[in-house]
Amino acid sequence: MSYPPPHPTDARLLATELLEISWSDGSKLHYPPDHLRASCPCAQCAPTVPTEAPKTTRDFVGVRIRSLGEIGSYAFRIAFTDGHELGIYTWPKLREVGFPEGHAPKPLELPVFEV
Ligand SMILES: [Zn+2]
Repeated sequence: MSYPPPHPTDARLLATELLEISWSDGSKLHYPPDHLRASCPCAQCAPTVPTEAPKTTRDFVGVRIRSLGEIGSYAFRIAFTDGHELGIYTWPKLREVGFPEGHAPKPLELPVFEV
């Protein structure tokens, strides 16, 4: 490609716990925390054997984003409230897993049991 791929121009946590990233091409993408957590690219989260099922949002119900740090203008390191902070989300990865504004699924709620 002869043009630079888009990079974030702004990133903030919305009151709804969604991460919102504005991109240099003018687009704005939304990231539910449980989706981000489920798509963590680190070696610890990726399935270690091909038969192992990939993680889904059901594995991370109630998880929120704790902090966000930029790494060398190519990625964000995202820390989550479940204590996980190894995930390095590159710009292409974030473009891939983001939802257009208004189309992000709501995070699953913790189940409430009748007693
Ligand atoms: Zn991870």
